[in-house]
Amino acid sequence: AKEAGRARMTCYETAMDADREERNALELDLRNAIEKEELTLAYQPLVDAKTHEITGVEALVRWSRPGYGPISPEAFIPVAETSGLIEALGLLVLRKACEAAQQWPDLRIAVNVSPGQFRNPAFADYVRHVLNHAEIEAERITLEITEGYIIQNPERTRQSIERLKALGVKVALDDFGSGFSSIGYLRQFGFDRIKIDRSLTMDVLTDSRAREMLQATVALARSLDIPVTAEGIETEEQGIALQLFGCDELQGYFFGKPLPEAEISKRLKAQTAR
Ligand code: C2E
Ligand code: CA
Ligand code: CA
Ligand code: CA
Repeated sequence: AKEAGRARMTCYETAMDADREERNALELDLRNAIEKEELTLAYQPLVDAKTHEITGVEALVRWSRPGYGPISPEAFIPVAETSGLIEALGLLVLRKACEAAQQWPDLRIAVNVSPGQFRNPAFADYVRHVLNHAEIEAERITLEITEGYIIQNPERTRQSIERLKALGVKVALDDFGSGFSSIGYLRQFGFDRIKIDRSLTMDVLTDSRAREMLQATVALARSLDIPVTAEGIETEEQGIALQLFGCDELQGYFFGKPLPEAEISKRLKAQTAR
């Protein structure tokens, strides 16, 4: 009977059905992985633009899906967002990042926050709870948020940021320049840092428009005393250019890919031995 049913469906229906099934399967696997804490974190170095010393790390979630292997956060974070799993995922990430941070007392730890977490009025409370539990100084944590949510809910964003800053954590505007970035947001929301998206930095040496936009952005941020990180630095030349334009911090494959905890510790040891 199943075979006959299948034969009756049009290709289109079959494809829709397969999509939905695949999404449900992914959601189920993800729910399981969160429950069993099978998600791990990789840490990408954030380096001082002048000395290239590691001054911080960005925590990036990793998941090896049973039967599939590693799957990109860009594929499963949206599923977590629409299925109500994002809060549990976000909590797990924050908790693991704070635990790892204990062994790196001199580093700043950046953690990505999804709109779905940020939207929750209790978000600041759970951040406070995790920080207390991990006994980590709030100042060492930077929460990275993208501008998509800000545009939808400017007023609530302002309130959430205020509550977070009252805890002592820092808040960074992520992926700046990737979408409808409004420079006006910079001052309005009290961001402690902005991160310039790879889509701008990658063209800095080849495209004069990208370069001009970048220079104008960095100049404005600096006039507001907001430090700037340039993301996606893949060559030495890009790094030099962005440092000259006024970025105080750099991040990208040239300085280090996202690495397991132990690799970061090794690099820190080599750094202090120098
Ligand atoms: P993002 O926050 O902008 O993170 C930077 C992404 O760019 C990371 O991809 C990183 O591996 C990649 N990257 C860094 N340097 C370079 C470079 O030089 N060249 C290139 N081509 N890529 C570079 P990843 O780890 O795949 O994460 C993708 C996105 O998924 C993140 O973008 C972030 O939006 C989201 N994400 C990752 N982890 C988390 C998490 O724990 N929570 C939430 N809510 N989102 C996360
Ligand atoms: Ca980020
Ligand atoms: Ca980013
Ligand atoms: Ca991004």
